[in-house]
Amino acid sequence: MSSEMHNSLWRDFPKTAPEFEDRFKTEADCRAYLIAVRWGGEPACARCASRRLWTLREGTRFECAECGHQTSLTAGTVLEKTRKPLKMWFRAIFEITSRRTGISAKDLQRIMGFGSYETAWTWLHKLRAAMVRSDSEPLGPFVQIDETLVGGKGGPHKQLVLVAAEANGRVRLVHAENNDTVTCKRFADEEISDDAHIVTDGHAGYSDKSLGERPHERKVQTKAERRESDAVQGCHWTVSLAKRWLIGTHAGAVAPKHLQGYLDEFTFRHNRRKTKGVCRIAARLIESLVTRGPMTMRAIVDQTLLYRRLLPDTTIAT
Ligand SMILES: [Zn+2]
Repeated sequence: MSSEMHNSLWRDFPKTAPEFEDRFKTEADCRAYLIAVRWGGEPACARCASRRLWTLREGTRFECAECGHQTSLTAGTVLEKTRKPLKMWFRAIFEITSRRTGISAKDLQRIMGFGSYETAWTWLHKLRAAMVRSDSEPLGPFVQIDETLVGGKGGPHKQLVLVAAEANGRVRLVHAENNDTVTCKRFADEEISDDAHIVTDGHAGYSDKSLGERPHERKVQTKAERRESDAVQGCHWTVSLAKRWLIGTHAGAVAPKHLQGYLDEFTFRHNRRKTKGVCRIAARLIESLVTRGPMTMRAIVDQTLLYRRLLPDTTIAT
């Protein structure tokens, strides 16, 4: 999509609930929007890229006039094979993004009138997965790194989470098996720019071996010193917000295998906390839904992402 198109979609995106209802009143409204996001307003053949397409089945499928290949509006996206109206997906996206703290599966089920909790849960996981790669720009130029343990207290075992925070900016949270040098190196290489200036506490996993050429300040602080001026305060703040969010919105009931999905949702929201208007966030999420590949029910249920991103496979209907 051209950046001009992108900007105009964002600019014109409805800003209030009534505007949203009005803008996406029918399936045709939602289809037109997805066509704009996916193809810049004019569908293209998935095989030969021709723009000469016949519209079939009320605009949900297209047949190429050149090669005969059929393309569906949602094939190859997170919405592939959905049996529910697009309008409902749009509505769910609005509900999820318009609440500062997000929504639990139980509340989504009630609001959307879904017969089963499972449907609400699956939708939330699909939407969460669309939040993952929405911000792939590595962190920099000043980044603090730390780690924390999440969970425990009667629930599943405590899980290790690696944390990186820009000075007053974006964050990354990654569920990891351990914090040895190899894992720390992978974290730094995937999440942090090559020339970022790094601050850590005394943890041995962060060294020249894991951080490479990046300038690195290791600050070993006593509790009293930390109270005075915490060297990794951005990380500590992020961690306390994330934990409060997990408990507040999701009652802390997060299975270890789904932890990364929740961390991704937290990160998506946190990194857009200064974005004016939730509607831009909704627009961003819709964009992400059509640019990300589909995912299977199994991938969602077995979403063990111990430092591994979800890999799209084939999909199932929900
Ligand atoms: Zn074609």
